[in-house]
Amino acid sequence: MSIAEHYDVVVIGSGAAGLSVALGVDGAARVAVVTRGVVGLDGSSCWAQGGIAAAVGPGDTTAQHAADTITVGARLNSKAAARWLAESAPDVIRWLISLGVQFDTVRGRLALGLEAGHSFPRILHAGGDATGVELMRALREACVLQPNIECLEFAEALEILKQGERAAGVLVRNRKGEVLRLYAPRVVIATGGIGQLYRYTTNPVEADGTGLALAHQAGAELADLEFVQFHPTALAPQDAGQAGQLPLVTEALRGAGSTLLSNGGGRFMAMAHPQGELAPRDIVARAVWEEMAQGREVYLDARSLGDGVRTRFPNFFQACVGRGTDPRAAPIRIVPAAHYHMGGVRVDLHSMTSVPGLYAVGEAACTGVHGANRLASNSLLEAIAFGRSLGERLAHGARAQVNVAAIAAPRASGARAASANDAMVAARLRQLMWAECGITRTPGGLQSAHQQIQVLERRCLPGAPVLRQLLVARLLVEAAIHRKQGIGAHHLVADAQVGSGGGRAVA
Ligand SMILES: Cc1cc2nc3c(=O)[nH]c(=O)nc-3n(C[C@H](O)[C@H](O)[C@H](O)COP(=O)(O)OP(=O)(O)OC[C@H]3O[C@@H](n4cnc5c(N)ncnc54)[C@H](O)[C@@H]3O)c2cc1C
Repeated sequence: MSIAEHYDVVVIGSGAAGLSVALGVDGAARVAVVTRGVVGLDGSSCWAQGGIAAAVGPGDTTAQHAADTITVGARLNSKAAARWLAESAPDVIRWLISLGVQFDTVRGRLALGLEAGHSFPRILHAGGDATGVELMRALREACVLQPNIECLEFAEALEILKQGERAAGVLVRNRKGEVLRLYAPRVVIATGGIGQLYRYTTNPVEADGTGLALAHQAGAELADLEFVQFHPTALAPQDAGQAGQLPLVTEALRGAGSTLLSNGGGRFMAMAHPQGELAPRDIVARAVWEEMAQGREVYLDARSLGDGVRTRFPNFFQACVGRGTDPRAAPIRIVPAAHYHMGGVRVDLHSMTSVPGLYAVGEAACTGVHGANRLASNSLLEAIAFGRSLGERLAHGARAQVNVAAIAAPRASGARAASANDAMVAARLRQLMWAECGITRTPGGLQSAHQQIQVLERRCLPGAPVLRQLLVARLLVEAAIHRKQGIGAHHLVADAQVGSGGGRAVA
């Protein structure tokens, strides 16, 4: 027997996307936000450092912002979505300021940074590199003030409930282990990314792709799953077997003069690209991967910055000190890491999935904005722009009721907790995805990954939570197998050409 509640809208996820939806909905509609941790503090949004893009500087235009987005996306973008996003950006910034976000300013004007791929300085920051923390503070505080928004913290969405072809609610396990049925005619997936499917990632533990599994099991189409962006530099784990989120090492350190060294032969970026350490993100990531595939370790050398590394990059400095190293005195070992998922639940410009009543926003959605690769600082923008706009639209049609008697019995019992076998399978999956479906892929490696994932699936008990991760990983590998030509973040080479970037095969 489960507990039941009725809402107008249920949002799964309390990152920038989920909270923007909830805030966009009219105050008369009852909204539930279901989240795995504490509202606004779990998920990737509060980790965002670089900033949020908007064409608000002198000489800049939204058309140029859209054009840059499409160029970086290898022209596989939805042009309409990229244009809509760029045009929405200035209004998103005004909205955030109205909610109390304190963006950094210079002489009373918004300070605008330049990042790779942008033709103009158009990156807004808050608190230097604490943009995500500040955005989420403001969104969280605004949500708390809204009596129509109820937050279910430490709760796990287990299944999308269906009434015929329509989404009609969410099956949830709460922090006491009780299974709840949250009925609603509008359900929004805002569950973030998939970085935790990989051995090395900058993403927090919540980013395990579950939302994509829920959507797929409810019959929604997924798209562009093969496009995963890797950040070239994260702090290497202290212990080789360690899994989980790694601290991101900002590109600004290389912009300030730090270099990349391999323990095989010193600097290697000059050979890889004319811009050396300042080459585009995916080129640097690949070059680091290739060094590692030769069995070498890679280091970031920030010694030339002297004490500036402590004063200008306090987060990086503290992370190093926390590991017992001093970047002023010695190079720091880094690895590339899964960072952002361009693919997700396929949606149209109104965030509608292929299932009526089911919507997706933020990193979990594939709006087509990013194409085959993401322009830096476009993801927070996408999460907030599409999220808020969806919330406003849902407000108008949110009075529909679900017919409880017509809802199909859920498949998930909700009772099974993760086991030791789940943990072992998840670790093997991360290793496998890293080795065979990571920065560089081969047709043979992808086929092998596909088979090995199916072996892992057979090793799990029915209903095991890790099966959802295996499902998403298998769908991602299938998408990579079907994309026969390397493009954007899907870097495909012939079988003979590649090593494994630090760890092959499992099972
Ligand atoms: C280290 C780092 C730095 C970044 N820097 C930038 C940057 O500078 N600029 C930029 O634009 N982007 C940046 N990004 C990317 C950006 O932060 C994310 O793409 C964006 O925040 C995603 O927002 P979201 O709301 O879609 O997902 P998230 O913020 O990840 O939120 C997902 C939510 O879903 C919940 N959830 C997931 N599964 C379930 C479930 N089954 N049941 C219940 N709840 C669930 C989670 O608990 C969480 O609340 C960065 C990412 C990282 C990791």
